[in-house]
Amino acid sequence: MNIILLGPPGAGKGTQAARLVERHGMRQLSTGHMLRAAVAAQTPVGLEAKAIMDRGELVSDEIVSALIDAELAALAPGVGVIFDGYPRTAEQAVQLDAILAKHGRKLDRVIEIGVDEDELVHRIVGRYTCATCGEGYHDDFKQPKLLGTCDKCGGTTFKRRKDDNEETVRTRMAEYRAKTAPILPLYEARGIVSRVDGMAPIDAVSEAIEAILAKA
Ligand code: AMP
Repeated sequence: MNIILLGPPGAGKGTQAARLVERHGMRQLSTGHMLRAAVAAQTPVGLEAKAIMDRGELVSDEIVSALIDAELAALAPGVGVIFDGYPRTAEQAVQLDAILAKHGRKLDRVIEIGVDEDELVHRIVGRYTCATCGEGYHDDFKQPKLLGTCDKCGGTTFKRRKDDNEETVRTRMAEYRAKTAPILPLYEARGIVSRVDGMAPIDAVSEAIEAILAKA
């Protein structure tokens, strides 16, 4: 099964994708993760993307679609994929169709995670992760049981994304409204869109997604 998780930044796409990976052995393809890795490794793509990402704007369609194409080429055909943060423009949606066809795959479902924007800013600006294992935390919603020590791996170093500040988050939301939300009608016309309430607790969102996939 190949699915897209669609929703504004902070809607919980990454969290839900990680759960699907754990439960179903699917593969999460997050262009945001790939780009951050490229920035850290200072590859040509990373050098080009860094300033754009810091401003909260979108990296070029060609760059992100090439990343997705390369990942799918290296993936066993039977492994299901969760697209997280891609496609983000109408052009990327067209490119994704071509890439999926090239790799003998098809898109089964698009799950839109709906959320309230002001609440999102609060969610995003407070989030941080363990620098060792990547476990996610939040200043107000989920602190480690022992403050300063990761519950999962015992690590004591944490990090925040550079683009998780209010100004950049507002730009990322505006990019979502202007460029990403307009993709939905395209998938609606194919009858493959389902919606979940992203303001519900994480477990409830997971259950809603599981119910959708069970019927897909
Ligand atoms: P994310 O981790 O999905 O929030 O992405 C972080 C940043 O990476 C975004 O604000 C964009 O600058 C860039 N990015 C990630 N995915 C894409 C995409 N599909 N198209 C264009 N830019 C992207």
